[in-house]
Amino acid sequence: MDKKLQLTDDILLSVEKPARYLGNEINVIHKDTSAMAIRFALCFPDVYEIGMSHVGLAILYDFLNRREDTYCERVFSPWSDLEAIMREKGLPLFALESQDPVKDFDFLGFTVQYEMSYTNILNTLDLAGMAVYSKDRKEEDPIVCAGGPCTYNPEPLADFIDFFYIGEGEATLPVILELYKAHKAQEGTKDDFLVKLLDIDGIYVPKFYDVTYKDNGEIEAFTPNHPHAKPSIKKQVVMNMTDAPYPSKPLVPLIQTVHDRVVLELFRGCSRGCRFCQAGMIYRPVREKDVDVLKKQAKELIQNTGHHEISLISLSSSDYSGLQELTEYLIDEFGNDKHVNLSLPSLRIDQFSLDIMNKVQGVRKSSITFAPEAGSQRLRDVINKGLTEEDILNGAGEAFQGGWTRVKLYFMLGLPTETFDDIDAIAKLGQDIVEEYYKLPKEVRKRRPQIVLSTSFFVPKAFTPFQWSPQNPYETFMEKQDHLNKKVNKKNIKYNCHDAKTSMLEGVIARGDRRIGQVIYAAWKNGATFDAWSEFFRFSHWDDAFNRTGIDPLFYTVRERNYEEILPWDFIDVGVTKAFLYQELQRANEGKVTPNCMDGCMNCGAKGFGGGICYVD
Ligand code: SF4
Repeated sequence: MDKKLQLTDDILLSVEKPARYLGNEINVIHKDTSAMAIRFALCFPDVYEIGMSHVGLAILYDFLNRREDTYCERVFSPWSDLEAIMREKGLPLFALESQDPVKDFDFLGFTVQYEMSYTNILNTLDLAGMAVYSKDRKEEDPIVCAGGPCTYNPEPLADFIDFFYIGEGEATLPVILELYKAHKAQEGTKDDFLVKLLDIDGIYVPKFYDVTYKDNGEIEAFTPNHPHAKPSIKKQVVMNMTDAPYPSKPLVPLIQTVHDRVVLELFRGCSRGCRFCQAGMIYRPVREKDVDVLKKQAKELIQNTGHHEISLISLSSSDYSGLQELTEYLIDEFGNDKHVNLSLPSLRIDQFSLDIMNKVQGVRKSSITFAPEAGSQRLRDVINKGLTEEDILNGAGEAFQGGWTRVKLYFMLGLPTETFDDIDAIAKLGQDIVEEYYKLPKEVRKRRPQIVLSTSFFVPKAFTPFQWSPQNPYETFMEKQDHLNKKVNKKNIKYNCHDAKTSMLEGVIARGDRRIGQVIYAAWKNGATFDAWSEFFRFSHWDDAFNRTGIDPLFYTVRERNYEEILPWDFIDVGVTKAFLYQELQRANEGKVTPNCMDGCMNCGAKGFGGGICYVD
């Protein structure tokens, strides 16, 4: 029997990459929809190719579909060509597998990975034929939930989402679904269900909390308005990563996506404590997966997908205790004549990593990437990067000796305490690397070195030591970027820079409170979608939204916060304490480096989860 399709052949032939919308990939899961107790539409609010490259989505898709009573299907943002047709013809947004309208599902769950996708979330709700504000949605509409890193500060989305799950989906979703099944059998209302959710750890239902503000715009009080609403919402995590379910038959798209490869997740969390890094704090503690399990998973994944690349992912792969054993196994098992490439992002560049890369890349040497984040040692100490100039120059020198000629370096402009001397140091570091190359004997130097310096702008994030810090205003960002551009010696160095307007907006949303929801709504009404895409991003949509809502973006960006101020996300408990974060801010201001968890525990609070690296001798 032919599969039912939501879009006619005419429409499919008229849009770019129709395979985005067919839901017929290899390993796709089809279930009898009539036999399902729960139908879950899992939405990545960006285009198919981005969403399909996200391992979190693949994990949740597999995890939810392991349940016999649940059918989880995927939803992505339709590209602008299809959206125009859908709006013109009144076609509802549909899930890929069954092609049924999203409106027919029990849940619509968003995975929220970056701030610039927020207008796409509103657009998804609208395309699905639902009201974007939760208060306006109908009883028969799906329950709208959200999780993912951005939801650790859920407030900017509070008015649009029925409930948030704070932490890792694998930990919370089974409890939610069991509760929902019982609730559905009793034919309770949506509100009854939301009330029941209040008893579950890690769930935040915004409507059961009120916020009041002081005259100066700061939060005066954040108060539960229901007797069961917890004053603090504790992040839920999977402590045993080794036994955690992991997809062995992931979907294989029929069109090229951002990453066409299988992914092995080495561990969650990070022990390093970079002070700008939200992921490093919110995913604590480090929880490793057993190396034997990873070997087994690698084999299954390659067999079940036919991919030619295995990527080892984590926040800092060099810190994985079984890295040598795993990479040697993977190279033996899949390397050379088997034509499977190994990719290892997030490696520190030292001799060990270069040896691995040498084995992996062989003669086809691509580029080596460093992320010093700051040009001077002083500023690297402020941000606790734990990388010395010597590490960088030695790493680059060894890479040149090993045959690499292209070195990419990532920096941030606008880090707290930054001066123009720190910016000059970025240009100098690039030049020093060039000189490192010319230290090689002439006969070894086959071509000119290619050094690429890239800068983005620092965005302070919730749950980092810099959550209290001011962000640079737009004009300062531009001044710093121009300054660096003039300082870089363009003979051997290429300089890539970032868009400052996007970073400013990210800054507003990342530390935004509930009032920012109005701005997101107004920007979306003005036509903002796909804001993470430069070809779609129009700052004027946002500028107008700030003007019309009377909300001053500078209140959220350039303002320094006091320790006493109630921050919009203070009611979320990520394990890492506010006192620890503040102590880290003070150490940053004193230029004091804090050790890696492996070299000494600083009692950040994550030990309270009862496992992982905090308990390793
Ligand atoms: S409790 Fe100690 S070891 Fe555990 S994450 Fe925090 S600082 Fe690291």
